[in-house]
Amino acid sequence: MYHLKCASYMDVKNRMCWECGKVLRGRTDQKFCNGTCRNAYHNRKNSYNNNLIRHINYTLRHNRKVLDELVPADKNTVIVSRDELIARGFNFKYHTHTQKDANNKMYLFCYEIGILTTASGKVRIVRTADIRQTIPIPLVSRKKRKDKPSD
Ligand SMILES: [Zn+2]
Repeated sequence: MYHLKCASYMDVKNRMCWECGKVLRGRTDQKFCNGTCRNAYHNRKNSYNNNLIRHINYTLRHNRKVLDELVPADKNTVIVSRDELIARGFNFKYHTHTQKDANNKMYLFCYEIGILTTASGKVRIVRTADIRQTIPIPLVSRKKRKDKPSD
């Protein structure tokens, strides 16, 4: 008896218009009561997705611009404080991809410019020629490498 009640409740719940919630009495696979409700539903869904994508694209482009302005034109790397990035509106939650350098350090990239939080809590910014180029090895690591016996 309980099962029957449950099933009929689910039936009613699943048989409502996805847009206006009106009970549907047509085909068993019907989702909307009419074309107006179908269009309204899809327009709202698309508008939400478009706004979401626009917001993320804007944030990524802004992040890239902030990093690009901080790296001197004649260099491919610079170290700044986190506060400097935050003050310029950099959003640490958004990046396009990740890439490890030769020392296995994980950089977060916004297009062709990557960031790495250093041991001291500062942020190293590295500009690559394009996103397929490997990350230039920072000067500190080059020194360490020199100390090791060469093979
Ligand atoms: Zn409807």
